[in-house]
Amino acid sequence: MNAAKPFPVQGLTPTPAQIRRHLLSVQASAQRATQMGRHPFAALLVGPDQETVLMEQCNIDTVNHAESTLARMAACNYTPQFLWGCTLYANVEPCCMCAGTVYWANIGRIVFGMSEHRLLECTGSHGENPTMSVSSHYVFEHGQKAVELIGPVVEMEAGLVAQQQAFWARRLGPQDAAAPSSHRFMRSG
Ligand SMILES: [Zn+2]
Repeated sequence: MNAAKPFPVQGLTPTPAQIRRHLLSVQASAQRATQMGRHPFAALLVGPDQETVLMEQCNIDTVNHAESTLARMAACNYTPQFLWGCTLYANVEPCCMCAGTVYWANIGRIVFGMSEHRLLECTGSHGENPTMSVSSHYVFEHGQKAVELIGPVVEMEAGLVAQQQAFWARRLGPQDAAAPSSHRFMRSG
């Protein structure tokens, strides 16, 4: 970390009750995404008071994930100084693309419910979601500013994992289950 951080004060920290409430909200949003034929991922942007929900975004597709789409729109609508006091909530740990976008948008805090590692256990190398294995902790450890990362939130993880398991079990057809992983990767995209 660089000692000269651009926006060192992040303001209020979310309470455990706020974290639970916002994660339940983002879980419900992820469920709505599946009703629109999308994958069960969503993100919320909560303002510096740690209460006000400013934006909500569901998964769109493989290159427009919920968190990176929200971060880009947030950067269009708010200043970097304001966003440094905000918190982005995601039901699943952001991938390296999304973590990078949050970093460059200057959103100061991420709270996620379940880890990417647990998601990988749910999806395997599913052609629709060939989950990576690059922790967002790893991404932020290599940055120049201290984006705060809270997660996984252990008390929420079981419910969030169950949501992913239920979705990906339905998407995993018999052919996928039987094929070697290298063949399944060839189907991706
Ligand atoms: Zn992502």
